[in-house]
Amino acid sequence: MKAVTIIGGGLSGLCLGIGLRQHRVPVRILEAGTYPRHKVCGEFLSGKGREVLATLGIEPRLTGAREALDVTFSLGASSTAVRALPSPALCVSRWKMDATLAEMFSELGGELITSKRASTEVGEGIVRATGRRPQAEEGGWRLFGLKAHARGVTLGAGLEMHFTPRGYVGLCAVEDNRVNICGLFRSREAVPALARDWRGWLSGEPGSALHARLAAARWDDASFSSVAALGLAPRRALLSDDMSIGDAVTMIPPVTGNGMSMACESAAAAIEPLAAWSAGASSWSEARMTLSRRIDNEFASRLRTAAILQRAIVHPAARWLLFQSVKLIPAFQGILFQKTR
Ligand SMILES: Cc1cc2nc3c(=O)[nH]c(=O)nc-3n(C[C@H](O)[C@H](O)[C@H](O)COP(=O)(O)OP(=O)(O)OC[C@H]3O[C@@H](n4cnc5c(N)ncnc54)[C@H](O)[C@@H]3O)c2cc1C
Repeated sequence: MKAVTIIGGGLSGLCLGIGLRQHRVPVRILEAGTYPRHKVCGEFLSGKGREVLATLGIEPRLTGAREALDVTFSLGASSTAVRALPSPALCVSRWKMDATLAEMFSELGGELITSKRASTEVGEGIVRATGRRPQAEEGGWRLFGLKAHARGVTLGAGLEMHFTPRGYVGLCAVEDNRVNICGLFRSREAVPALARDWRGWLSGEPGSALHARLAAARWDDASFSSVAALGLAPRRALLSDDMSIGDAVTMIPPVTGNGMSMACESAAAAIEPLAAWSAGASSWSEARMTLSRRIDNEFASRLRTAAILQRAIVHPAARWLLFQSVKLIPAFQGILFQKTR
C-alpha cells in the first residue's frame, strides 16, 4: 500500500491518521509542535464530530471530559434563561485531546514526527492539515483569539457565551475542575501588550455578567495561549489544488463551536478516498475531487449561516437585536445551533 503523509498533527490530522491506520494504510504525520500543549480553542465540541470520535474509538479515551447540556448568553449585565442544547456537547481541553489522539495514533503503528515544521508543498500522497491559513486583516480589522484555564469559577450553564463590544468569550468546564475561557476579538490597530493584558480582554467590562463570573477566577497562567491573523471568510475545497482537511480548507466562525467538529468530519470524509488511493484503486486526483466535493456539500450551508451570524455579532445594533431575539424567542437559539451544524 502507498503511504500517506499528513502535515499537521492537530485534531484533523490526528483523526485522519487514526482512521487510516485502522484501514492499515501506512501514515506519517509531521507536526511543528509537541504534545501535550495548550491551544486557543473554546474546547466545546458540538455536532457530528462527536459521532466521528465515537466511530474511531476516541471518545472513551478522553477520560475526565465533561458534557455541556445547556447554554446561556449574556450581553453586558443581561443574560438569557438557561436553555437545553439540542444535543450534548463534549468539553475537553486541547491539552488532553491532542495528546490522547497522538498517543492513539502511535499505538496504531503510525509514524509521528514532532517538532518538525514541514514545507507545505502540495503533491501526491500529501494531505494538508496545517490549521488556519493566516490572514493579516479582514475588512480592516485584525482578528485574534485568546484562551486560558482558571479554577474557582462556577458556571450557570454548560456553556456560557458572553458578547462584549470587542468580541465574544465562551466559558465551559473541562476536565480536572478547570473552566476554559476563550475569546475571539477584533481591533483596528495591532495590540502589542496581549501577553500582559490578556486577563483584561478575557474578563470583559466591569459591570458585565462576564466580569462578575470571573471575579474570583484563579488563572492558570501557563495555560494562556493566543493566536492572531485569523480569517473567517468561507473558502471552497474544490477551488484549492491540494488535498486539505480541517481549518486548512476553511475556518468557521468560532461562535458556532463547530470548528472542531468540521475538523473531525473532514478527516472522516478523507479516510475512504485515501485508503482507495493507497490500495491503488483510484488516482490521487480522483481521491482529491471526491474529498473536496464531500467537504463543500457538507459545509456550504453552515458556513453561510455562520458568516451572517459573525457579521451580526460584531455590529453593535445587530448584536443587540440578535441577543434580544435569543432572549425573547426560546426556539431561536435552537434554530441557530441546528443551522450551524
Ligand atoms: C478563538 C477560537 C475559539 C474556538 N473555539 C472553538 C470551540 O469552542 N469549538 C470548536 O469546535 N472549535 C473552536 N475553534 C476552532 C477549532 O480550534 C479549530 O477548528 C480546530 O482546531 C481545527 O483543527 P485543525 O486540525 O484543522 O487545525 P489545528 O488544530 O490548528 O492543527 C493544525 C496543526 O498543524 C500544525 N502545523 C501547522 N503548520 C505546520 C507545518 N508547516 N508543518 C508541521 N505542522 C504544522 C500546527 O502546529 C497544529 O498542531 C476555535 C477557534 C478559535 C480561534
